[in-house]
Amino acid sequence: MSNNYYQSNGSEVALFKQAATQRVPVMLTGPTGCGKTRFVEYMGEVLGRDVVTISCHDDLTSSDLVGRFMVTGGDVVWNDGPLTRAVKSGAICYMDEVVEARHDSLAVLHSLTDHRRTLYLDRAGEVVTAPDSFMLVCSYNPAYRSSLKELKPSFRQRFVTVAMTYLPPEREAEVLVSEAGIDLSAAKRLVNCAMSIRKADDIFHFEPPSTRVLVTAAKLVAAGASELEAAEVCILAPLSNDGAINDGLRELASASL
Ligand code: ADP
Repeated sequence: MSNNYYQSNGSEVALFKQAATQRVPVMLTGPTGCGKTRFVEYMGEVLGRDVVTISCHDDLTSSDLVGRFMVTGGDVVWNDGPLTRAVKSGAICYMDEVVEARHDSLAVLHSLTDHRRTLYLDRAGEVVTAPDSFMLVCSYNPAYRSSLKELKPSFRQRFVTVAMTYLPPEREAEVLVSEAGIDLSAAKRLVNCAMSIRKADDIFHFEPPSTRVLVTAAKLVAAGASELEAAEVCILAPLSNDGAINDGLRELASASL
């Protein structure tokens, strides 16, 4: 039984297990806060594998991933980076927001994501073949993608791509109950509030409120905040700095609470 509570949202658990069996990498796409990280942590427990998480950013170098020589106590010694540690220990390596990383930093993944399943540590003169349990999982939010930050098709096609999204409202409310301990009716009201804003997303073009912000709002309610206060500070305030838009959203939100 897993300690990481995860509400499944379709066939992603089965797909992940199939990919793990066949030793192919997985790409998770979906809006921020929709459960990608939680899903990977959960699958790590289900499969009995450690998860090594790497948060990608545009300064990330291939040395940050594979490792580098460092001077320790007068000696120059090689230090494995998180990717190398994950490969050597047969863990799941989870590269979050991989679209943020530069293409040249991701080149080290090529030999790992094809039939070779091998990491070449050129500087250390070492070749590491991944054990069967090693799995590479990457994620990105397609909504953030700018024209400058596109993953190359040749890279994307190496992965089984699992598109994730928010849970249906009743199941999302159950997540709030489980994560924050509020009662189901309060959870449903918070979810309805987010749903009304998500539906208005087409008009306003902002990143819609995620399950993450709903969990935070639910935690504030559990700590004594009113639902309206919690919705204001967790769901509404992060959406926009435009007063007029916020007034419109507040009206939408308060109709649900
Ligand atoms: P992402 O990685 O997509 O940005 P996270 O996995 O960090 O999002 O999800 C944010 C939070 O939302 C989690 O910590 C968890 O509390 C909650 N959550 C989202 N989706 C689920 C789900 N399907 N099952 C359980 N909790 C979830």
